[in-house]
Amino acid sequence: MRLVCFLKERKRHPGRLCAGCVCIALSLVLSACGSLVKTYTGTDLLMGTVLSMKVESGDGDPWEELTSMGQDLETRELSWRIEASEVGRINASAGDPEGLELSPEMEEILTQCLAVSEESGGAFDITLGALTQLWDLDRAALKMQEAGSSADPEGFTYTPPSDEEVQAALARCGYERVRIEEHRIYLPEGMRIDLGAVGKGIFLGRAAEALQEAPISGTISAGGSILTLGNKNRSEPSEPWNIGIVDPTDPSQLAGAIPVPGGSFVSTSGDYERYVEADGVRYHHLLDPHTGYPVGVKRPASGGAEANFAVTIVCTDGLLSDALSTACFVIANDPARGPQQARELAERFGAQMYLVGADGIL
Ligand code: AMP
Ligand code: MG
Repeated sequence: MRLVCFLKERKRHPGRLCAGCVCIALSLVLSACGSLVKTYTGTDLLMGTVLSMKVESGDGDPWEELTSMGQDLETRELSWRIEASEVGRINASAGDPEGLELSPEMEEILTQCLAVSEESGGAFDITLGALTQLWDLDRAALKMQEAGSSADPEGFTYTPPSDEEVQAALARCGYERVRIEEHRIYLPEGMRIDLGAVGKGIFLGRAAEALQEAPISGTISAGGSILTLGNKNRSEPSEPWNIGIVDPTDPSQLAGAIPVPGGSFVSTSGDYERYVEADGVRYHHLLDPHTGYPVGVKRPASGGAEANFAVTIVCTDGLLSDALSTACFVIANDPARGPQQARELAERFGAQMYLVGADGIL
């Protein structure tokens, strides 16, 4: 862009080089030498999790654009906690025979999510809103953390819902009962959409789109999802980014790192991310849509297994990386399905899955 203006100016006044052109030419040369490329960092809260950025940019600091885009995405489109957001309005329309008209963006999001639900045999389900609100684990985990860091560590106790409450909420869920026709959505009475499993991935997808023209390299992370941009090493373009993956058995440590090229979305789901403990049971935020309980949490009188693995997905689509990490976590930790089925699901969407557990990254 700057180069085009500079050349046009030269054509109009071949004998003259205005001061502005000199500046532009100088800045082009400096950019080419890399001396105008600066490092920018930022950290903030977004969608109840930590957003952070470290990039090298020859085009100014993208932080403000990113944070305001993220806040708009959360408040206008995705948050079920905000009545005026599009998801809030969809949920309020449940049971209405007229349904609700969808924005093209939301129709695309919901269609992609429902495809993952279908392909995962229901392990991933965006209609779990009644259940996630009943368990309320995001908020409980935050309260537990606050109590833990206050003078009174006993200040918060979590009471899990009764089995009757879980079954009643489960009866209000089920992606097969969502209808999208002629750009309208029809939700059955009582159903609630929760896009918590894909919000960070959608945000990173939009961040990648917004920055695709910019001369930029670095990483942006939102909770367990990371986007890599450009080349890690300008003089060695084939050198990959190494993304550190948290050890689920000791989240203060890394289990290892996964090498990925620029333009990758890396998303991890694990039971260590948000949870509360009560009576020796870890109630975490990843729910098994077939039981209504957190994955691996024993259902009264029905067996079950611990959630042994975290799961990392690498792919070239933000929403998909996030949806698949949640889906593959549920499948890999289901004793009736297991890691191989989870891996096959990821591959059907052109993604790679890594299992992260006591044996490292597999
Ligand atoms: P993530 O950390 O990306 O795996 O997403 C976790 C969030 O997704 C939870 O806090 C819930 O809001 C939602 N969620 C939990 N279990 C599921 C599931 N099986 N399918 C879809 N969304 C889920
Ligand atoms: Mg996810």
